[in-house]
Amino acid sequence: MTALELVQGFGLYNFSLSDVHRPRTVEEVQALVARFKSEGRPYVCRGAGRSYGPVATHPGGAVIDFSLLNNAVSLDAESGVMKLQAGATIGDLWRYAVPRGFWPPVVPGTMFVTMGGAVSANIHGKNHYKRGSFCEHLEAITAAGPGGELIRIPKDDPRLEEFVAAYGARGPIVEIELGMKRIETGYFDVEGFTLPSLSETLAAFESGKETWEYQVAWIDCYPSGADLGRSAVHVANHTPAGEIPAGKGFDLADQEVPGTIAGIVPKGLLAQVLALFTFDLGMHAVNTGKFWAGKLLGHTRYRQPLVHFNFLLDSIPDWRRAYRPLGFIQYQIFVPKERGLDVLTEAIKLQHRLGVVSYLGVLKRHRADRFRNAYTPEGYSLALDFPVTRSNSAALIQLCRTYDRLVAEAGGKVYRAKDCVGSFERSQEFLALRT
Ligand SMILES: Cc1cc2nc3c(=O)[nH]c(=O)nc-3n(C[C@H](O)[C@H](O)[C@H](O)COP(=O)(O)OP(=O)(O)OC[C@H]3O[C@@H](n4cnc5c(N)ncnc54)[C@H](O)[C@@H]3O)c2cc1C
Repeated sequence: MTALELVQGFGLYNFSLSDVHRPRTVEEVQALVARFKSEGRPYVCRGAGRSYGPVATHPGGAVIDFSLLNNAVSLDAESGVMKLQAGATIGDLWRYAVPRGFWPPVVPGTMFVTMGGAVSANIHGKNHYKRGSFCEHLEAITAAGPGGELIRIPKDDPRLEEFVAAYGARGPIVEIELGMKRIETGYFDVEGFTLPSLSETLAAFESGKETWEYQVAWIDCYPSGADLGRSAVHVANHTPAGEIPAGKGFDLADQEVPGTIAGIVPKGLLAQVLALFTFDLGMHAVNTGKFWAGKLLGHTRYRQPLVHFNFLLDSIPDWRRAYRPLGFIQYQIFVPKERGLDVLTEAIKLQHRLGVVSYLGVLKRHRADRFRNAYTPEGYSLALDFPVTRSNSAALIQLCRTYDRLVAEAGGKVYRAKDCVGSFERSQEFLALRT
C-alpha cells in the first residue's frame, strides 16, 4: 500500500484519505485492476476530481487516478471521430480539435473534466436541449474488464449502458471514441439580456429553443415576490463562415483566455477579491450588482471565442479558495418542463424560509436522455452553490433533503456529480449499480 493522500471532491466539503495509484499507460491500468482483483480490494476511479461531491473519493481505500493517462489523442478528419485516452481533458480535446476545424458536441462549464469523468457522469452542456448528453455522441469506449482484459464496446452494444453515468461502478474506462462537430469558425455570436422573473426566463428558453444552439441563465436567488428568479440570460450560435473568414479563431492564441484583466491585473487576484465578498450580505450585493449592471447594459450582441464563452470560470485560478475553510456544496435539481415553474419557485422560496440562499444559481434547458441512468427529463435544471459554514450546515442539509422530496414528487432527479450530501436512498441505488 502506498502512503495515504488527501483526495477531495471539488467543493472541498467531501474528502478521503486514500492510497492513490496513477497509471501512465493502459498496461499499467490492466496490471492494477488484475492486482486489485486478486487481492480482493475494491477501488474507486478518479478523473480530474471535478465532481463536487464524494463520487471520486474512497475513505481508507484505493483510488486509481487517471489524470496521467492522457497521451494518445487523434482525430480522423474524414469521419470526425476523435480518440482520446481516459485522462485527457476537455482542454486537451479542444486544443487538438479547434485548429483542425472541430468542436466537441457537448462541453461542461469547465475544461478540466476528463473523458473518463465525462462518460461516467454523462455530462451535459448549455445545448443539452439540442444535442443531448456527452454519451449520445460516443462511437465506442474501451474499458478494462474485471481481470484487466481490454474490451472495446461500440455505441450499439448494450454493454455501453453499464458505463454511462455509472460513476466508475463497472470499472475503468481507458479510451473513448467521440463523434465531433465540424465548425466553420472559432467564434460564437452571443446575445445577453436580463429578465425580471423566473416565469419570463423559462418562457425565453422556450421561445429561444429553435433559434439558439446554447442557452443559459444566471439566476439571482435573493429576491422574492415579483422579482423572484430574475436573471441574466446568454444565448449563442456558432458564427458561420461568411460573417467572418472561414477558419478565423482556429489559432490556439485566439481561444486561450488571458491570465490578466486589461493586460495588467493578474486574474489570480480576482479569487482574492471574490473571497472578500464570500459571505451572505456580500454575495447578495454581488448578485444585485450583476443584475443591475446587465439591465443597464440592455440587450447586448457580441462575438466571443468558443472557449471564452464556455469556460468563463476557468480563467479565475483556483476560485474555489474563496470558500475556504469549510468549502461549498453544489446541488443541481432537474425537473420536468410542466412542473418547472412551480418546483423551481418553491426551491427558491425554501432557501428564503431556511435562511440559506444560493450564492450562484444557473438555469439550463434539457431534453430527455435515452440512457438507463438518465438524470435529465425534458425540462429544466437549476444548479445551486452554497458555502458550508459552522452556522448554516444543519439548515443546508435540511434544504437538500427537502429538495430531494420536492424533486422526487415532481418526477425529477438530482445530479449525482453535484450531490455533496447524498441521501441514504441514493447511496443504496449507487451500491446496487456495483453488484
Ligand atoms: C466549475 C465546474 C463546472 C461544471 N459544469 C458542469 C456542466 O456544465 N455540466 C455537467 O454535466 N457537469 C459539470 N460539472 C461537473 C463535472 O463535469 C463532472 O463532475 C465530471 O464527472 C467531472 O469529471 P472528472 O474527470 O473530474 O471526474 P471525477 O470527478 O474525478 O470523477 C467523476 C466520476 O467518474 C468516475 N471516473 C473518472 N474517471 C474514470 C475512468 N477512467 N473510468 C471509470 N470511471 C471514471 C469516478 O469514479 C467518479 O465516479 C462541472 C464541474 C465544475 C467543477
